[in-house]
Amino acid sequence: MTHVAAVILTDETGKILICKRGEGGSCAHLWEFPGGKVEEGEAPEAAAVRECQEELDLEITLGPVYASMDYSYPDRDIHFTFFNGRVTGGDLKLNVHEDVRWVAPAELKDYTFCPADVSLVERLAWERQIELPVMPPIAATLIGMLNERGFEAWAVGGCVRDSLLGKEPKDWDLCTSAKPEQVKECFAGTYKVLETGIQHGTVTVLAQNETYEITTYRAEGEYEDHRRPEAVTFVDSLEEDLARRDFTINAMAMGPDGTIIDPFNGQVDLKAGVLRCVGNPAQRFEEDALRILRLLRFSAVLGFTIEPETHKAAKEQRHMLRWVAGERSVKELTRMLCGKAAHRVVAENGDILAHVMPEIEPALTFVQQRNGKEENLWLHAAETLAYSSDIPEVRWAMLLRDIGKPYCQQAGSETNSLYEGHAEVGAQLADAILRRLKTDRKSRDVVCELIRFHGIHPVTDRVSVQRWLQLLGPKQLTSLVHIWWADAMAHRVKADSLKAFEKTLIDLIDEGFCYSVDQLAITGGNLMTEGLAQPGPSMSNLLDWLLHEVVEGRVENNKEALLNKAREWQAK
Ligand code: ATP
Ligand code: MG
Repeated sequence: MTHVAAVILTDETGKILICKRGEGGSCAHLWEFPGGKVEEGEAPEAAAVRECQEELDLEITLGPVYASMDYSYPDRDIHFTFFNGRVTGGDLKLNVHEDVRWVAPAELKDYTFCPADVSLVERLAWERQIELPVMPPIAATLIGMLNERGFEAWAVGGCVRDSLLGKEPKDWDLCTSAKPEQVKECFAGTYKVLETGIQHGTVTVLAQNETYEITTYRAEGEYEDHRRPEAVTFVDSLEEDLARRDFTINAMAMGPDGTIIDPFNGQVDLKAGVLRCVGNPAQRFEEDALRILRLLRFSAVLGFTIEPETHKAAKEQRHMLRWVAGERSVKELTRMLCGKAAHRVVAENGDILAHVMPEIEPALTFVQQRNGKEENLWLHAAETLAYSSDIPEVRWAMLLRDIGKPYCQQAGSETNSLYEGHAEVGAQLADAILRRLKTDRKSRDVVCELIRFHGIHPVTDRVSVQRWLQLLGPKQLTSLVHIWWADAMAHRVKADSLKAFEKTLIDLIDEGFCYSVDQLAITGGNLMTEGLAQPGPSMSNLLDWLLHEVVEGRVENNKEALLNKAREWQAK
């Protein structure tokens, strides 16, 4: 066990100092709190003070211990002691870290932290929350208009959860005792009313360029084939409406004055960071198996843990996932993968995910050889999610990139050719998965291409990087670099060559390096005017060849040079 002392340094306004780790080593480029390893025989307090001096040239005064917690990385277990602290002297310098920021507690969530610090970030952001977002005046007006006609109306669900978490809600959904016809009548003549969801009891009101969904209190209807009910049953009480909702943190309502209606103790769970079903979890997952994936999504996005009974029921009911349509599943899975705790959720729930993607099943128990070490393939894939950018296609490629390995193992081969062809097989498996889940074609192609190339070791000389750029284009190549980085970080390798590659790539993009025919300094028209080509395949061959010569560094991308080069081609 390694002991680490870290300090939550705050300024007068309550902002917290966070540091970006320097290059190389595990967790490079991720954010953390200042502090470091407690040396043999040293007191944690002394280590905290010393580390802040060494890392940042700051003198600090320590307050009480804020928290202590354990975290296991694959290569080591860490025990953290976090202290509260204040700066009392010195000028902030970056001796070890790459960057530092003072940020408000609510903003902590916008940074990607070292995995060990994530639960602390959650807690800090929750506990030190000062201002909660308030209901937009127009939502309050809509509620008021319904109240005037004698109906109850409340904000409900995600917006209540998010505002209590201090996050700006995406949208404010309302619920009411008024029936859809009565809602329509209430707003007719004042706001535009759309009836798109009316068969489920939802009327959409367009007010001040925003849409508000207003849904009549309803109960869970009979489920047919474990899919959403065909017909809805309206009910009279808010509590009944809240009872049909999935998790306690999603089953709260809020009035314009900030009153919270919380019959299932959602606030307690929100504060503790726990996901718990409303009612009997097994029954709730059986009614609608999509809730199992929503559970994983909320856990990954909010960084919340799953209450044991709820988790057990989700695992037991996982076979019900076959009733869920691919396009509904994939939306939840993508949001889960982009969540900040995706690494933990994926690691703990491979068995559930294999019911949506049976292709991953062999990976879950597969022990792979890597640099002379053995590791579980799935847990490694999960871990790399902690280090990769949260671009959906990158996260999907991270998750699936090695699932081809169990299908490609060749006994008795050298380690580096043990899983020959796994990238191509992985790309094909990913293609099958994403087709079944009905992902759009473009994203699917991007994911599969990233998987196909993920295992190639980048060569860093300029012409090689230029070739990569021609092959993949800057956006896709940047994504590939993200994947290489995450892999390197999860394996704790220094990756100097990767850094050099990234630098050359950034330079080339900044210089406006030409990587596609459209960027050549000449057009087909220019070639025709000079009598060097006629429209048709020969012209496009010539343009491709000129691009090739530019990428290979044999000619500059300017008009004169390219025309001369084209004349060479003609002379051949
Ligand atoms: P977000 O908008 O961030 O996805 P949300 O909680 O608002 O989160 P929505 O899908 O917009 O999620 O659903 C709104 C509310 O409807 C939820 O908060 C929850 O109360 C309820 N809900 C949504 N889907 C289900 C479901 N499958 N089963 C039960 N209740 C659900
Ligand atoms: Mg919502």
